[in-house]
Amino acid sequence: MTETEILSIFKKTEALLTGHFLLTSGRHSDRYFQCAKVLQYPEHAEKLCKMIANNFKGAEIDTVIAPAIGGLVVGQEVARQLNKRFIFAEREDKKLSLRRGFSLDENEKVLVCEDVVTTGGSVFEVIDIVKSKKAEVVGVGFIVDRSNGKVNFKYPQFSTLKMEVVSYLPDECPLCKEDIELVKPGSRKVK
Ligand code: ZN
Repeated sequence: MTETEILSIFKKTEALLTGHFLLTSGRHSDRYFQCAKVLQYPEHAEKLCKMIANNFKGAEIDTVIAPAIGGLVVGQEVARQLNKRFIFAEREDKKLSLRRGFSLDENEKVLVCEDVVTTGGSVFEVIDIVKSKKAEVVGVGFIVDRSNGKVNFKYPQFSTLKMEVVSYLPDECPLCKEDIELVKPGSRKVK
């Protein structure tokens, strides 16, 4: 899929909204992205994850791992397409860890998946888990790179789309100056 095709799916499914948004950080932005909105449709999840699966097709992979909750759909779908095992890490006392009897063997080849990467915090945590088990990170695949290519995991990495996050302090927000209604994503006012 081309960048234009991907963007059109994001817009059609309202994963990508344009307007004037109050972000959880308190900053304002003209765009808001919610990956779950596109991944709720299996056909779109399949197509996007196919790009990730294809990118790592030549690599030796035993297992796909993802951080819950965001990475679950992507990890499962990429693993399904590659016909590999899928496990996930989840937060316990704010720290990601393997639970539910999940484990990794020494030297096991692992592909890390995620939906959206902004600072990459969760992915870095999952990489640390893989390394702590003496398993091997083969690469990192994710749907959207909101750092616009700035995040570097130091392993082969692939995203279906790179996006720049432009946000403003409320005092400096040009959208406020234009008197465009400010909405909190998830509220009914979002169009
Ligand atoms: Zn504003």
